[in-house]
Amino acid sequence: MRVYISADIEGTAGVSGRSQTAAGAEGYQAACRLMTQEVNAAIEGAFAGGATEVTVNDSHGQMLNLILELLDPRADLLHGAPKPWSMVEGLDASYDLMVCTGYHARAGAAGTLAHTYSSAVIHEVTLCGTPVGEYELNAYYAGTYGVPVAAVAGDDVLEREVLGVSPQVHFARVKEARGRFGSLSLGAERAREAIRAAVEAACRLGDVPGLVAPPRPDLVATFMHAGQAQVAALCPGSERVSPVAVRFESSEFREVFRAFRAMITLAGTV
Ligand SMILES: [Zn+2]
Repeated sequence: MRVYISADIEGTAGVSGRSQTAAGAEGYQAACRLMTQEVNAAIEGAFAGGATEVTVNDSHGQMLNLILELLDPRADLLHGAPKPWSMVEGLDASYDLMVCTGYHARAGAAGTLAHTYSSAVIHEVTLCGTPVGEYELNAYYAGTYGVPVAAVAGDDVLEREVLGVSPQVHFARVKEARGRFGSLSLGAERAREAIRAAVEAACRLGDVPGLVAPPRPDLVATFMHAGQAQVAALCPGSERVSPVAVRFESSEFREVFRAFRAMITLAGTV
């Protein structure tokens, strides 16, 4: 059984402040150690649950956060940015399950450090009119390969988002949001145990239904200001539907995902 882990940092127990997530800023190195240990807990759970191979994708910022010398040596590490498919780089039908660690609530939600791919440019993202965050976007991408997300770790706000669309997910709630820049975290060891147990249970259960995108996925990205939407709408096939919002529709979810990545990259230039 091949397991794919997408590892973000904001949903890690003990991480609440913006500086902890920014390379070079105060508390960042300590946050990277906490993130790496949570990923190790997921790797441990995966192998205990029957995994034979584990690939970890460092999925935050410049994607150079995980500390290889501390990472469980049984896993392979994808890192660096930009990677073509970002938080789901390398994921394909050869994997059996996906696990998300350190994940956070969507832009606009009340979760700790909530955002959707970019705090600087994205106000909200909807898919066929429903707000979506990184969890849904990445899970729909995995779904195009028939790979289900089986376990997720993060705060209580993310837990409600995830279980609302994916009730079969084993969720490890490692903290409760106490505002955008605050949280009540489990102690590090207890957070890791929760992750290990959730991932092991998910892997033992094996195949569960994954998320399947709507047949004609229609994404609307609302940006922080009109200048960002203006350049995002340079993405071929997109349509500016308001001063701050750009829409992209396709029969292929991966095309929608790619267009969204292009839009946020463009928007980040102004
Ligand atoms: Zn993120």
